Amino acid sequence: MQLDASREPAGCPTALFGLTGDQLAAEMESLGEPGWRGRQLAEGLYRQRVDALSAITTLSKPLRTRLAAEGRQVGRPRIVQVFQSVDGTERYLVQGPADQPGQTVETVWMPEGDDGESGDGADQPQESGEGKPWTRATICVSSQVGCAVNCQFCLTAKLGFQRNLTPGEIAGQVVAVMARHAVEVGRDRLNLVFMGMGEPFLNYDNFMAAVRLLVQEVGLSPQRMTVSTSGIVPGIERFALEPAEFRPKLAISLNAPNDAVRAQIMPINRKWPIESVLEAVSRVNLRPRERITFEYVLLGGVNDAEGQALEVARLIRRAGLPAKVNLIAWNPGPGIPYVTPHPPAVEAFRTRLAAEGIPSYLRRPRGRDIYAACGQLKRTVEG
Ligand code: SAH
Ligand code: SF4
Repeated sequence: MQLDASREPAGCPTALFGLTGDQLAAEMESLGEPGWRGRQLAEGLYRQRVDALSAITTLSKPLRTRLAAEGRQVGRPRIVQVFQSVDGTERYLVQGPADQPGQTVETVWMPEGDDGESGDGADQPQESGEGKPWTRATICVSSQVGCAVNCQFCLTAKLGFQRNLTPGEIAGQVVAVMARHAVEVGRDRLNLVFMGMGEPFLNYDNFMAAVRLLVQEVGLSPQRMTVSTSGIVPGIERFALEPAEFRPKLAISLNAPNDAVRAQIMPINRKWPIESVLEAVSRVNLRPRERITFEYVLLGGVNDAEGQALEVARLIRRAGLPAKVNLIAWNPGPGIPYVTPHPPAVEAFRTRLAAEGIPSYLRRPRGRDIYAACGQLKRTVEG
């Protein structure tokens, strides 16, 4: 399925989900209602996670009827298909209210996830809600339908760029999954990673608007959120200016020890080479104990040699940033000409980084049996 790349969304003009508390207040006032009714609406949408106007019982029935008559709806994205892995991972196809059937993005729920937050302080013990089958969880969120960046190893790249998601469509993935698993804000240990389909920094305004909704209205902490970018320098520069109260942690998809290898697997490197990315990253005002994550997809015979681990370590030391490396063995996909690295090579790579003083973590493959690689599920289902 290939759509016109220039097609802009979308979203759903009648959707209330995605509006801030202030915008909801303005909507109410435009109907001649007091502005504080907007707060009640926000409570319903983002805290009680209602998915129909009729369920917002703090609003009078005539008002709910009136909103519906004006064509307004909650309009939160819906989980339209669920795939459950034996390891507890759940993968969803999520669809916005204005989407044609089949225009979906992927969202992933990883209970007890080794999801990239290891070793950065976010994994300190904290009580999770009683009686839940998990003590912590991570939701992996998409930012675009498809992706324009064209990394050679990535399945999402094969979809091409279809469109940007709206703030409501990005935040809505999180709220829909939180509702499904009855996540309690402030009680359960929930992390978000913006590492699903798409390049968040090529949809910067909508991505950051979604983060603000998730912080301000849903009540999640930006210190439990990580955004991953392939190295879009203007995006990183804007990100460095965001106030700490709305700034997630930053991960960079490094994936190579030098520009030559990186340009071969990530053509975007020709536009923004490693040094320019590191320069932009160095402008981010890190919080105490915060580190930059460098993600590294190991491709057999391409970037997984021990000597390359040494090169990565030197590169990171030279950058002089508090950093850690998250390694992940490449998840294979149809029509992609790479091979999964041999397990001993993976271990040697990690050991070498550690010996060089670079904290490194190997991400467990999640949901292998349900096609866990980025973009893989959508391509498998919609074939
Ligand atoms: N576009 C952003 C975020 C989404 S991709 C980015 O590239 O950073 C999230 C991560 O998944 C990236 O680090 C990417 O390198 C990695 N990735 C993509 N395809 C993969 C695959 N087949 N196996 C393992 N990791 C993959
Ligand atoms: Fe896009 Fe990230 Fe995939 Fe590269 S790795 S094509 S930036 S989703």
